[in-house]
Amino acid sequence: MIKYKLYCKSCEAKFDSWFASSNEYERLNKKKLLTCYKCNSVKVEKAIMSPQLINSKSKINENLDLKKYNKVKKTILGYQRFIKENFKYVGDNFAYEARSIHYNDKKKSKGIYGTASQDDLKELKEEGIDTQMIPWIDEIQN
Ligand SMILES: [Zn+2]
Repeated sequence: MIKYKLYCKSCEAKFDSWFASSNEYERLNKKKLLTCYKCNSVKVEKAIMSPQLINSKSKINENLDLKKYNKVKKTILGYQRFIKENFKYVGDNFAYEARSIHYNDKKKSKGIYGTASQDDLKELKEEGIDTQMIPWIDEIQN
């Protein structure tokens, strides 16, 4: 897994996201599967982390066929399956549950996943509680 800082060209939001590899990031980006958590724009790109990266803007193969796309989708669904099996779904109570794990029984608790507002995530971060955003595909669309 690799963590990238992403940048939204529409609202200038910056946020972190996890990917299996840099290739996966490129594929998701090309397929417009990366969206801004704040304004839902697809004009999201990797924030430039170091000067070297500016010069290495290589030509990315744009001929993504369906097979490759499905492979990416399978990868994401694989993560989702893993998360569903190993983490507890807490829905909108994410911030509350994250705090209770952080402050109470962090050793015995399963990880959790759910939805949280940007304000929640910001507050959690200020309290030293680490959260991660992951790409998520609605399985109904399959
Ligand atoms: Zn945005």
